[in-house]
Amino acid sequence: MIDRDKYYLASGQIGVMGIIYLIVFGILGCGAGGFIYAAATYYSPIIYLNLALTLGYGFLIGWLVVKACEIGQVRHRIFALAVGLFFGVLAVYSNRVGWATFMYFKFFSEWILVLNPSSIWSFMQLVAVEGYWSYGSGGDPVKGVTLNIVWFVEVAMILAIVLGYCWKKAAVKPFCERCRKWLSQTGYMSFLETIGQP
Ligand SMILES: [Zn+2]
Repeated sequence: MIDRDKYYLASGQIGVMGIIYLIVFGILGCGAGGFIYAAATYYSPIIYLNLALTLGYGFLIGWLVVKACEIGQVRHRIFALAVGLFFGVLAVYSNRVGWATFMYFKFFSEWILVLNPSSIWSFMQLVAVEGYWSYGSGGDPVKGVTLNIVWFVEVAMILAIVLGYCWKKAAVKPFCERCRKWLSQTGYMSFLETIGQP
């Protein structure tokens, strides 16, 4: 079998279309996805559903970055990973904005969009004092340090999934610079073609 890592070296090309696709996919995913995820977890009464939603959100962002790299023909793994990290952080941030918006609405009956990270953090700590959900019915609300740990785990999960997915999938297939297309990973021709390219 051919060990592709031994023979294929990505050209490192990124291209304008790659950047455009990444910006569009990333902003759509983080913007719309972050708010939908915030709404879903806010209204979800089941903690296991929240966990599934967190996983799904991470995969959505990772998938979008990978897809944008594929369509936009990004042939640079480290760049793809860096973009994955950027959109992973943006995904967490936009989700927190969505969450803060829902929580504000709950407490103050008015629509305030919080965009300042330090305001969001202060608000989170305010919520953490009281807690806002509990395990099962009638249980004590999760709050304080425990709630902060839950949030930390949530953030870590999203970042790990986005980065892991990008590491595994983004810009890993061999790309033929002559035909301007991705090649199947197992193709023997693809490896010869790539080698033939100076
Ligand atoms: Zn070719």
